[in-house]
Amino acid sequence: TSCEALVSSYLERIEARNDAVNAFLTVDRDGALNHARYLDSQLERGNDRPLAGLVLGVKDMIAIKNQALTCGSRMLEDFTSLYDAHVIEQLREAGAIFVGKTNCDEFGMGSSNETSYFGPVQHPEHEDYVPGGSSGGSAAAVADGMCHAALGTDTGGSVRQPAAFCGVVGLKPTYGRVSRYGLVSYASSFDTIGPMGRSVEDVALLLNALAGPDTRDATSAEVQVPDYTRALGRSVEGVRIGLPEEYFAEGLDPDIRRMIEAQVEQLRDQGAEVQSVSLPHTEYGIATYYVLATAEASSNLSRYDGVRYGHRADLETMQAAIKEEHEALHEQLGTAQSNGDAERVAQLQDQLDTQSDLLRALYVQSRTEGFGDEVKRRIMLGTYALSAGHYDKYYEKAQRVRTLIRHDFLQAFEDVDVLLTPATPTPAFQRGEKTADPLQMYLSDVYTVPANLAGVPGLSVPIGTHPDAPHLPVGAQLLAAPFDEAGLLHVGDALM
Ligand code: GLN
Repeated sequence: TSCEALVSSYLERIEARNDAVNAFLTVDRDGALNHARYLDSQLERGNDRPLAGLVLGVKDMIAIKNQALTCGSRMLEDFTSLYDAHVIEQLREAGAIFVGKTNCDEFGMGSSNETSYFGPVQHPEHEDYVPGGSSGGSAAAVADGMCHAALGTDTGGSVRQPAAFCGVVGLKPTYGRVSRYGLVSYASSFDTIGPMGRSVEDVALLLNALAGPDTRDATSAEVQVPDYTRALGRSVEGVRIGLPEEYFAEGLDPDIRRMIEAQVEQLRDQGAEVQSVSLPHTEYGIATYYVLATAEASSNLSRYDGVRYGHRADLETMQAAIKEEHEALHEQLGTAQSNGDAERVAQLQDQLDTQSDLLRALYVQSRTEGFGDEVKRRIMLGTYALSAGHYDKYYEKAQRVRTLIRHDFLQAFEDVDVLLTPATPTPAFQRGEKTADPLQMYLSDVYTVPANLAGVPGLSVPIGTHPDAPHLPVGAQLLAAPFDEAGLLHVGDALM
């Protein structure tokens, strides 16, 4: 089939399904068809490319030139990117076609794709369930057949967790394996871009094009890129597989545990050597992650000030806000004066001087309107953790624990090649089930967050559906030493 015919069939599927699923925020119909025709003409001349005709969805945190780049936020509702991300350049060169930008939690903050300004994404198999997050649009689009594969981003699990919930394969590469140039920053020392597809092979093919150094990302690594497809279809005889005991403790759904154990048996039968290992600092993963990721987020998101780009409140709203605050402060000042509270009077007078500042109102009002509740929660948490008097207690301590967690992994990889764990403690949950309790939401990342803290690669592979709910897929997670994506793909291929 021609690339044009392929693109047309995906566009048809998007047309039929996207109103319900809400996986795509924008669809680049003409761009995708034009590029497909161009590739077809190239193919006719014998100019083949490794990914020719691979139709991709791209999470709307990754820049494609002249296309909207919203990050699922009102803040960037009208923002258009001026350039291509490194990964987009690489994939286009390899023959991939971008069919549209996929929905996500606002700025990648969430585990259920319910924080997007553009509405939640629906689980492709059940309208009341979430697809996971934050790359929920990418996972749902692939699972529902709206594109062949997709790009997601993974800061604390956002590729692997939605992949597990939707029954697709998702890879979070080693930090530094794939350039972040053109990825909107959430927590820069955790952020990674990863491929999502229906098979381990698709993910390996995509990683071939994605991986490699880039001078525009100072944290990208000068490490040789192997042909990842060579890891596939090989026996796991003699491969040492570790089961981290902390990942099979309290909180794990018993059916998911049994499904993982069945995979372990199967790997043993194929000649793998399985042993139990310990990652003793696992219990601090969530706390450490949410201190550090929010700290970095509060700093990264300070760039949205309503001045240079992004949402800007209108002048009348700002003036009205200033007036209202002014009146309130005046009233308080009157009370303080009649109480003879000199300290409070001075404080309020100080506030009155700055409150009437239009520039300050521009910042406050634009950010108040542009950001959703979860983003504001993260900014407040992060600002608190970084503030004088709290810095040592939270930020600095969390950095130390991060080192211990990385150490746990490096230690474990002295004894085993790959770790096998559940990808998530439960299968997909219902929409609204965890929105009232952020802590419950954060706990759905308990098995994915440590890899981001340590910078190691992780792969989520579907291993069947949940016995109590046949529409809900279950995923296993594989973790490996830094830059051993090939080892993950090797074992992942044996699981499926
Ligand atoms: N759910 C996690 C968070 O909200 C992870 C998000 C991600 O990986 N982008 O931070």
